[in-house]
Amino acid sequence: MDTKKSPYAHTPTSAWEGLNEAQIKDIMDLGESYKTFLDFGKTERKCVEQIVKEADAKGYKALEYYVEKGSINPGDKVYAVNHGKAMTMMVMGSELLEKGIRIIGSHLDSPRLDLKPSPLYEDSGLGLLKTHYYGGIKKYQWASIPLALYGVVVLENGKKIDITIGDDVNDPILFIPDLLIHLWKDQAGKKMNEGITAEDLNIVIGHMPLQEGDVKDKVKAMVLNILNEKYGMVERDFATAEFEVVPAGKARDVGLDRSMIAGYGHDDRVCAYASMESILKINQPQYTSVALFTDKEEVGSQGMTGAESVFFENVIAELINLQKGTYNELWLKRALSHSKVLSADITAAYDPTYASAYDKRNSAMFGHGAVVVKYTGSRGKYDCNDANAEFVGWLRRVLDDAGVAWQTGLMGKVDQGGGGTIAYVLANKGAEVIDFGLGALNIHGPYELVSKVDLYMMEKGYTAFYEAK
Ligand code: MN
Ligand code: MN
Repeated sequence: MDTKKSPYAHTPTSAWEGLNEAQIKDIMDLGESYKTFLDFGKTERKCVEQIVKEADAKGYKALEYYVEKGSINPGDKVYAVNHGKAMTMMVMGSELLEKGIRIIGSHLDSPRLDLKPSPLYEDSGLGLLKTHYYGGIKKYQWASIPLALYGVVVLENGKKIDITIGDDVNDPILFIPDLLIHLWKDQAGKKMNEGITAEDLNIVIGHMPLQEGDVKDKVKAMVLNILNEKYGMVERDFATAEFEVVPAGKARDVGLDRSMIAGYGHDDRVCAYASMESILKINQPQYTSVALFTDKEEVGSQGMTGAESVFFENVIAELINLQKGTYNELWLKRALSHSKVLSADITAAYDPTYASAYDKRNSAMFGHGAVVVKYTGSRGKYDCNDANAEFVGWLRRVLDDAGVAWQTGLMGKVDQGGGGTIAYVLANKGAEVIDFGLGALNIHGPYELVSKVDLYMMEKGYTAFYEAK
């Protein structure tokens, strides 16, 4: 019997196969610098902070600089920040913007716990903080692990202060206790999604009572004293603050072969990082290269800093005005509708332990390279962006010509769940858009898992996209 495969059949293979030593070194080096990015970028604000720093170092200038100057030229490098939480960076092409733009759009926000506006209370000798989860989380995963607190507080006098507690090894951490197994008879009988509820996600912040004075709630008073001493904060300032609670600790290599990285916020900072690395290599593109970093993807992309905000269009409008010396909305419409967009986001990699949730033949395989996701959505492609075959065909040639290992992927079995990305936003403006990222494991868990070779191939794909004719 002939066991050879048809010459027309596609054979999925690991992207690790056939690599030389130099390539493996490049993959490991990229993993190292990505971990550094991830360790600092625990929040969307921290990500913006470090992307701006990288852009500054590479000769990028803020949009305001060019507006002041009154002109912009091919090869000029621009960035614009959207209220500290989202941003875009771009390299001006030799073509006019109305001929189309090459955009890679990712998101900087990740699932987490936010503090409520009046979070602090004392109960039974414990100082506690109330939280409201942000994005899709399995709540039980956030108890029993070390947590860190990142905050921006606007004091009564208007002064803004930054607070970071828990990621320095000398810092205390925050903690959400789960119920001890000895007493979990009732909890054990519950469904997994009811075992720990949203209102159970209360953070322990202190327990030592204030020694002096005749005050009520001495534990809470002690916490307030410390906050006041260290940061000049009073309780009311929680109402004019944004506090994000995230897993404490650094991203780590996984596997004896160090082939993977576990870390908080791969979704979607792995794509944000890769697109930043790619655009930093671009100097004189034909079409303007754009890396767009959005916020609020995990909660629907609405609002001032979400992908649906007019922020990006406004930046393009400013640039058209600089390019032409005048502005006409028609040019903006042309620029967007002639654009090619990679919606840079992660998707589910196949997990053999939970095989029944996937259609194995259509799932991204860990380590098989970057992932092209033609459509997302759920329940019969509802809410999806479905890329045109012509555009997928164009991208396929770009990736193959650049030697990028890539595969197709979908978010699990039909009717098992699903998910969306920012792809629809620019597609609604008439641009060609497809999801292009990598497959991760344990998505939206406190620590997610990615393969270093997939990161490498994705970054290579992003660079090829910018450079493609
Ligand atoms: Mn995502
Ligand atoms: Mn997500």
